[in-house]
Amino acid sequence: MSTYSRRDFVKFMGIAAVSSMFPLQADGIGYKTANAVEHKPKTFDIKKGEYKIIPINNNTWCIQEANVRCFLLTGSKEALLIDSGNNIHNAKEIAQSLTNLPIKLLNTHADRDHIGSNNEFDEFYMSMAEASNYYHGQNRRGAIIPTEHGDKLNIGNRPLEIIGLPGHTPGSIAVLDVNNRALFSGDPIQDGEIYMFGVQREPHAYVLSLKRLEKYTGRFDTIYPAHSNCPVSPNLIVPLYKGVEEILAGKIQGTDAVLHNTPIKKFDVKVATILGDAKL
Ligand SMILES: [Zn+2]
Repeated sequence: MSTYSRRDFVKFMGIAAVSSMFPLQADGIGYKTANAVEHKPKTFDIKKGEYKIIPINNNTWCIQEANVRCFLLTGSKEALLIDSGNNIHNAKEIAQSLTNLPIKLLNTHADRDHIGSNNEFDEFYMSMAEASNYYHGQNRRGAIIPTEHGDKLNIGNRPLEIIGLPGHTPGSIAVLDVNNRALFSGDPIQDGEIYMFGVQREPHAYVLSLKRLEKYTGRFDTIYPAHSNCPVSPNLIVPLYKGVEEILAGKIQGTDAVLHNTPIKKFDVKVATILGDAKL
């Protein structure tokens, strides 16, 4: 059994700089071991639900699947799992291999690639605006603990704040890890493909959310998104919303594509690709 160093994590994610990683914390509170159980397939097979556990620091881990990741944060009293996976259905069990603390779950939103293990939990933090998205899916159990913009969670010596980011979905939320100056952003802030087509997605709300988030950028240095490269810089925020504003103003032309049998348009906003409605 071996572990990934912070440098390996950075290498794995294809990021050159380690300076943006938040510093190792030596308090030793709430974690069993930083020597994570390693699951290291040569390649990820999405269908098999393969994953890696990547320590970020002594009280933060990334559970990385091929196309999505969730995060485990431990405090002095509790642990918080941010999202529960896509093809894995035992994220709680995986998290429990890293900490003896009671584990609570928070979903950044209810798209299926973020709720794979929700049925392991009786209740979970989630925005009420995701209720329709969540309960309209098949085999969805558990109770939402309504969690909205401005709410504060404290898992013990580790204050966390919720920042609402509606747009990608109506109730998308991010978690600000206050003392570590880190933001766990879910899907809206990332440098891959951002889904913005279909009835529940709203690019106008997305722009407003990112403009509001911009007011918080003095409070975090690093963003840990659910998809694509990780970590990313807060410098992504402005070009993302400016790009979507240009799409809405007709200044960026999209290319036609089909995704999940749905005609869409792909818009290159340079720092990411926005997948928008075909009519845009
Ligand atoms: Zn996603």
